[in-house]
Amino acid sequence: MSRFFSGKYKSLVPYVPGEQPKEMKYIKLNTNESPFPPSPKALEFAQREAEHLELYSDPECRDLVKTASKHFGISENEILFTNGSDEILNFAFMAFCDDEHPAVFPDITYGFYPVFAELNNVPYEEIPLKDDFGIDVDAFCGVNKTVFIANPNAPTGIALPLDRIEKIIKSNPDNIIVIDEAYVDFGTESAVNLIHKYDNLLVTQTFSKSRSMAGARLGFGIANENLIRDLNTVKYSTNPYNVNRMTMAAGVGALLDSEYFEKNCKEIIKVREYTAEKLKKMGFTLTDSKANFLFTSSKDIDGKTLYLKLKEKGILVRHFDKERLKEYNRITIGTSEQMDILISAINEITEVSL
Ligand code: PMP
Repeated sequence: MSRFFSGKYKSLVPYVPGEQPKEMKYIKLNTNESPFPPSPKALEFAQREAEHLELYSDPECRDLVKTASKHFGISENEILFTNGSDEILNFAFMAFCDDEHPAVFPDITYGFYPVFAELNNVPYEEIPLKDDFGIDVDAFCGVNKTVFIANPNAPTGIALPLDRIEKIIKSNPDNIIVIDEAYVDFGTESAVNLIHKYDNLLVTQTFSKSRSMAGARLGFGIANENLIRDLNTVKYSTNPYNVNRMTMAAGVGALLDSEYFEKNCKEIIKVREYTAEKLKKMGFTLTDSKANFLFTSSKDIDGKTLYLKLKEKGILVRHFDKERLKEYNRITIGTSEQMDILISAINEITEVSL
């Protein structure tokens, strides 16, 4: 820390992204990216747009907003695009949290929530997950704070049914409920349609997972127009050109190519179920993941050892040191070939036959 660093950030512990190693080619199953390339349409649109990079991007993202509003069945002033969904989440902390509106989220969830809270000097509470790693819905009802819930949750992959989500929204009418749907496309019902029923709901999604565009950085929030206006006030006070031209064009292409999107989601779900079955047969314990990753542990090998041994074999998975998670690994769903390599490697490591 330099002597110039502002005192207000002295105790800030930054978010630690998953490893992005350069030293060798790993099978990367550690950051929940898609194993498939972006839609050819997304690539074509981005390439064409590259010719105009001398000009600023459209701060209103009009083409993208138009395409997305048709896609999601919402009006154009009910959506805001951002630089990844991390940015809309940060905007939500900035816009809807303060001393009078502290944040609340599960104790095991997306690791960026407490960082955004600290960054924005927002007090926060963490509500423990239940013993089965499920979210304690009743504890969030009437909690009277700004609620952040990832649905499905990470790194557990467990999804809440929509009626449970609705119960939380309904019971906190004077607080914003943020439903982070980064992984919703792999088998969870979205809360997007509820924005017309509840004025306190913000749903966030991303193009990073199901639309294979993690490197493009494109996310968005959907909410009633008053909330979107508040979020725009924050956006225009930080970075009006937050989505670059190529990403915006790629986003339009990706949304227009529903067939490619649906095919890839279906494939990820199929490979997830296949991999889960294999791991179960090998004695692994798994949560019921509805995301593009599995959350798994084995009584035969501790989480860290498995992570390190897989790394030696050129396979990266995500291990967390947190006490309740340390026996587990989060494994991103890759191609079926990659998952077969993973299963053979785990087999060799644990010496348990299939
Ligand atoms: N929410 C959750 C639950 C996530 O796991 C992630 C990905 N790390 C994000 C949001 C942010 O993703 P992105 O900024 O790439 O849209």
